[in-house]
Amino acid sequence: MSEVRKPVIVVHGGAGFWNPERSQQGMEGVENAAKTGFGILKRGGSALDSVIEAVAIMEDEGAFNAGYGSSLNIAKRVEMEASIMDGKTLQAGAVGLLKDIKNPVRLARIVMEKTDHVFVVGEGAEKLAEMFNLKRREPTTDLRLKYYERQRKVLLEGKSKLPKLAGIIRNHPDLFGFETVGAVALDKEENVAAATSTGGLSLKLPGRIGDSPLIGCGTYADNQVGSCSATGVGEIAVRLVLAKTVCNSMGNRKSAQEAVEFAIDLVNRRIPDAYNSMGLIAVDVYGGVGAAHNSRNLCWTYITPETQEPVTSLTAKILK
Ligand code: ASP
Repeated sequence: MSEVRKPVIVVHGGAGFWNPERSQQGMEGVENAAKTGFGILKRGGSALDSVIEAVAIMEDEGAFNAGYGSSLNIAKRVEMEASIMDGKTLQAGAVGLLKDIKNPVRLARIVMEKTDHVFVVGEGAEKLAEMFNLKRREPTTDLRLKYYERQRKVLLEGKSKLPKLAGIIRNHPDLFGFETVGAVALDKEENVAAATSTGGLSLKLPGRIGDSPLIGCGTYADNQVGSCSATGVGEIAVRLVLAKTVCNSMGNRKSAQEAVEFAIDLVNRRIPDAYNSMGLIAVDVYGGVGAAHNSRNLCWTYITPETQEPVTSLTAKILK
């Protein structure tokens, strides 16, 4: 058995196309998140605390499609989602259809730790946030309003129609950076965890739930194998139960990198020519880092005991 490299954190700020105008802010955002998460791990903190704090930083950043700065749905409103999973206990928490919770990832933790449930949405979730005094923040930014108008115009010009977004995504990649955020970590005790947070797909129908809050689709963690967070068109990750597929692969003696490549390859083979939007990050129980995508970009970073500092990029292994 190979030696465990720990602690490790891997963070993503979304797949899709990272517009050069904003890529600097995106890269700095994932780096800040990873540094905070790694600091927690270095001080002996848990993988769970590490991924939650890393994701909360990105939810506050404004550069990502999560928390402040979330995408708008077709009704010009924000409906945020998030999930977390603890690989030690296999406990999980998820939230959806949130209007103005400042940090959806913290509400996911409340669902996991303070209720008997895994997934709470809408009014019930907002009430839970109130009970636990979670902060509120209006998530709509000027940038998202600008994007909304541009994307809606393209839609109304008849170049494509929902739910077949593939055409507009292909023809207007500049409008569709997915920018969901996620983090996976391995702590000094060899526990893994994962967290994912999003405003969801731009122009989605009100009430639509994507992969990000669905355990096994956008987020999965199991101490026996590793953890994974997904980004891209959620419907694809849901249909392939993608985060769990990555974890199952790690269970079949694949490294984190081999497992994410296997899963992207699966997307390409089984749902070909769909959107080319998917991105995956993972960590395995030996501290191996994985990142792969079939989108043009994946904004991501990682820190290991060897690097000590974030290693950041707008691409990983691209598999088309
Ligand atoms: N996966 C998210 C969703 O479909 C979007 C994203 O990754 O940005 O809601």
